[in-house]
Amino acid sequence: TEELLLKSEKLSIVGQLAAGVAHEIRNPLTSLRGFVQLLQSKVDNYQYYFQIMLSELDRINDIVSEFMVIAKPQAVNYEMKDIRKIVDDVMSLLDTQAILNNVQIHTEIAAGIPAIKCEENQLKQVFINILKNAIEAMPDGGNIVIALETDDNKIRIRFIDEGCGISEERIVLLGEPFYTTKEKGTGLGLMVCHKIIEAHRGHLEIKSVIDKGTTVEILLPISAS
Ligand code: ADP
Ligand code: MG
Repeated sequence: TEELLLKSEKLSIVGQLAAGVAHEIRNPLTSLRGFVQLLQSKVDNYQYYFQIMLSELDRINDIVSEFMVIAKPQAVNYEMKDIRKIVDDVMSLLDTQAILNNVQIHTEIAAGIPAIKCEENQLKQVFINILKNAIEAMPDGGNIVIALETDDNKIRIRFIDEGCGISEERIVLLGEPFYTTKEKGTGLGLMVCHKIIEAHRGHLEIKSVIDKGTTVEILLPISAS
């Protein structure tokens, strides 16, 4: 046990350091992006190169932001919240992106879903990451169902898409850092989800059939008080 404790302490120091470095990277990155944008507006030629520079800078920013969530031991504030409201908020956040991609998001919400103790912003982050993946898995559009129900003393949230699916060999790689099949992916989104759901003492599972679709299932405990 002592060895385990020591190991987790070391890990948390490494995590804090890494989170600190990530944070420090973001400031120069922001100023770099600002000046690239400024130059872009002053110069007529080379617009293509400016676009690449900006999108690559955004990519670094995405990676660093997601990495910070993973590495940083978060000071979290758990409060009683209605999951239905969180789902609604996230759906409005992703509205434009869904419409642009020809994707319709439906909800199937059972009656009597109780409020649970959770960190609202973190759960939003999880739902956004999962829904973005679902949208990205359906380049020709399609449907996503968000199903909400209770099961024993848990809330079950399922995100069901009809996208490209994930093969059995690759499904074990999900949630590993930097595993991505996308040109602009970070491969950190699902890892962030796992980390947040774990902190809520919940459970996240992915089931997928290639060319049929993917279901991401989250179980969250309904707190006693
Ligand atoms: P990213 O989206 O940046 O690639 P993620 O951690 O969010 O990183 O996802 C990792 C990989 O898992 C994706 O690149 C994709 O191959 C696969 N994946 C995740 N969600 C889905 C989904 N709903 N349908 C198909 N593949 C998915
Ligand atoms: Mg993703």
